Amino acid sequence: MRRYDSTDALAPSAHHAPSYYAATIREQAPTCVLQGEISVDVCVVGGGYTGLATALHLARRGVHVAVLEQSSLGWGASGRNGGQVHVGMRRDQQWLEAKVGQADAHGLWSLATQAREHLDWLVSHYEIDCDLRLGLLHVNHKARYTAESERHVAHMRQHYGYDHIHFVAEQALRGMLASDQYHSGTLDDRGGHLHALNFALGIARAAASHGAYLYEGCEVQSINRVGQRFHVRSAQGVVNASQVVLACNGYLRGLSQDVHKHVMPINNFIAVTEPLGALATRLIASQRAVSDSRFVVRYFRMTPDHRLLFGGGENYSYQFPKDIGSLVRPHLEAVFPQLKSVRFDYAWGGTLAITPTRMPWVREVEPGVINASGFSGLGVVLAPYTGKLVADALLGDRLGLDLLGCVPVPAFPGGPALRWPTLVAGMSFSALRDFL
Ligand SMILES: Cc1cc2nc3c(=O)[nH]c(=O)nc-3n(C[C@H](O)[C@H](O)[C@H](O)COP(=O)(O)OP(=O)(O)OC[C@H]3O[C@@H](n4cnc5c(N)ncnc54)[C@H](O)[C@@H]3O)c2cc1C
Repeated sequence: MRRYDSTDALAPSAHHAPSYYAATIREQAPTCVLQGEISVDVCVVGGGYTGLATALHLARRGVHVAVLEQSSLGWGASGRNGGQVHVGMRRDQQWLEAKVGQADAHGLWSLATQAREHLDWLVSHYEIDCDLRLGLLHVNHKARYTAESERHVAHMRQHYGYDHIHFVAEQALRGMLASDQYHSGTLDDRGGHLHALNFALGIARAAASHGAYLYEGCEVQSINRVGQRFHVRSAQGVVNASQVVLACNGYLRGLSQDVHKHVMPINNFIAVTEPLGALATRLIASQRAVSDSRFVVRYFRMTPDHRLLFGGGENYSYQFPKDIGSLVRPHLEAVFPQLKSVRFDYAWGGTLAITPTRMPWVREVEPGVINASGFSGLGVVLAPYTGKLVADALLGDRLGLDLLGCVPVPAFPGGPALRWPTLVAGMSFSALRDFL
């Protein structure tokens, strides 16, 4: 058994992070108890959006699938994130065009819009009560980004026919957001926000309704090939499966060295204020979500009970700071000085997984083992859809998965000893640019 320090960001726990989401859970999924050895077609490691959606799409097509989650379902990034619904990949279309050419860039955009439709389908088909709201503002903290935003909107309308996106000039922005920190932005009518944990638990319930076996408290310690099958081992028991899906994202630790070379964890922090009453609608109009142009992105929105949920600040360590609220507060007060000294009712951290290109690392790492992770902070829409693409691939249709993996994702530089310090140095340097 591994041993963990109590401040270890990756330490499994039977309890959810002390979040607003955990305090407002509305969903519950039936779980099973693992004892001895069970045999299934597919074993999924990790019970977040990716793993749960993989299980859902396999189970609804009659495949016997088990999900092993070391903590509680939705305990990882899926139950702790900002809930922001973004349309598109982590990299914009012009970046993708330059990297992979017009045809694959258009293919990736089409995949991103299918991912967005997939989210709507999940919520409506399985009646997931997750407070889905529409409207996402992306705002520029530097005036010189304004021209870039105008070009981006024109490009998306002209070359992708995406007319849900609008340029927002400074004056119009003042009517949408009570902050003088921003100069302009874009508004995506198909973007929005949702209750991250209830969304995850809704997918879990849907998977269980089709017969997926969901196990909590089962930390996978080893995966061994035995003939044509795999033995996926936890302290509670063994899952014997013909195929394995790694859906561990930032919480993977040493389970696969190959994945670890390409996908590394970083921590990000969120605080939620006391209810703000009528002030809430004066700060952000029309219940939209907002994210900004910083390298260390500030993202925020109101909850249905009029609290400000604000994400800001990250660290590059295997540990969370002791006082997360104090870390988030300066970011929040810079955007909304009118909330100086507002009370925080919740503050928590989460671990996400990044790759060198910020595109997910989704591929067969060895025959019979597929990895899907590295969503680099943009997984609310993309991770569940990637779960569907993994399920499609396991059933013989690899088109979507191969397309998603078409952007080269090199290993992080530095080798085993220097990879981590190199990442920390690179991220810290980029974060500094926010203040230049
Ligand atoms: C603070 C924060 C804010 C974010 N905000 C946004 C946002 O606003 N919008 C957006 O689109 N994205 C956001 N993201 C990113 C998004 O949450 C992730 O991309 C997405 O949840 C990834 O889902 P996943 O299922 O791949 O990973 P996770 O949800 O992290 O799930 C991985 C699971 O694997 C389990 N696991 C790992 N190892 C083992 C093992 N050995 N045995 C068993 N189980 C194991 C973990 O316990 C965990 O539950 C944010 C992330 C964080 C941390």
